[in-house]
Amino acid sequence: MLNLILFGPPGSGKGTQAEKLVEKYNLLHISTGDLFRFNLKNNTALGIEAKRYIDKGQLVPDEVTIRMLKQKVDENPDVKGYIFDGFPRTIAQCEALDTLLSEKEESISKLVMLDVPDSVLIERLLERGKTSGRADDLDQSIIQNRLEVYKKETFPVFDFYFNSGHSVKVWGVGTIDMIFDRLSLEIESI
Ligand code: AMP
Repeated sequence: MLNLILFGPPGSGKGTQAEKLVEKYNLLHISTGDLFRFNLKNNTALGIEAKRYIDKGQLVPDEVTIRMLKQKVDENPDVKGYIFDGFPRTIAQCEALDTLLSEKEESISKLVMLDVPDSVLIERLLERGKTSGRADDLDQSIIQNRLEVYKKETFPVFDFYFNSGHSVKVWGVGTIDMIFDRLSLEIESI
C-alpha cells in the first residue's frame, strides 16, 4: 500500500494537490478538516463539538479527531492506500496513526511537506475566504492563530517522521501543475 501524509501549514495547497494525487495514484483521500466540515454542515454531535475549536482556529481535541479518523479508515477496508491531509497534527495523532496502520501490517510510506512562506499563506487564505464559505479563512486573527498552532503543535509531526527517514519538503510556490510534478517525483522515488 502507498500511505502518504500530505503535510504543510494552512493554505499550503494540501487539498488541491490531494485531489490530483488521488486521481493519479488511486488512493483514499482522508481530510480531517473536510470530515469536520461535513459534520458541521449536518449538525451532528461531532460537528457541534468540533465547531467550538474550529471557529477559534484551535485544534479539535486528539481523542475526538482520532476516533473520527479511525472510523473513516474502518469504513474503507479495501483501499490501495491513503492520502492523509491535515492529519496527523499532533504527536499523539502520529502515534495513533502508526498504531492503526501497524494493526494492518502497514506503515507510512512518506510524509511530503508543502513548504510555503507565511506571507503567501496569509494572502492565499484571505483570497480563499472570499469563496470558500469558511469563517476560519475570513478573519485575519483566526488565520494568525492557525499559523501559530501549526508552528507550535503541528510542525513537530515533520520531525517525528523525519527521524525515521520518511519526511521530505517540497517547494509549494508555483503553478498547481509545477507543484504536482514535484510531489509526483517524491512519490515515485519511494
Ligand atoms: P483544515 O481544513 O485542515 O485547515 O482544518 C480546519 C480546522 O479543523 C482546523 O483549524 C482544526 O480546528 C480542525 N482540524 C482539522 N484537522 C485536525 C486535526 N488533525 N486535529 C485537530 N484539529 C483538526
